[in-house]
Amino acid sequence: MKSDTCFGKMSGEPLSVYFDEEEAQSAAEYSKEIYNNELSPYKCNKCDFWHLSPKSRLTPSEKCQRCTAGDGSYKDTYRTNKEANTRADIIFNEQGINLRIYKCKYSAGWHLTKSHY
Ligand SMILES: [Zn+2]
Ligand SMILES: [Zn+2]
Repeated sequence: MKSDTCFGKMSGEPLSVYFDEEEAQSAAEYSKEIYNNELSPYKCNKCDFWHLSPKSRLTPSEKCQRCTAGDGSYKDTYRTNKEANTRADIIFNEQGINLRIYKCKYSAGWHLTKSHY
């Protein structure tokens, strides 16, 4: 199924819509098998369904040992300011959420936070 609300930033084409993570995950595996195209599912904040995003655009992150997000889970840590920025851009493009970058107080990494300024 194609989305009528969400479009690829680069292609301008409607994104494929999946109803849950499992469905998105199996589509990602299919794509890898057939096209050798690595995709990762993500939940869309705009339409509340799932889409796939090319893995090459994902930025590697680890969980922080100290900092927690609003929901109590540990925050993702990006290795550099630049990677955190890339991630923030992707989230903004795909989900319309504006994130601010800040340096972790406890490690060498960087975190993202929802800005409310
Ligand atoms: Zn969407
Ligand atoms: Zn931290």
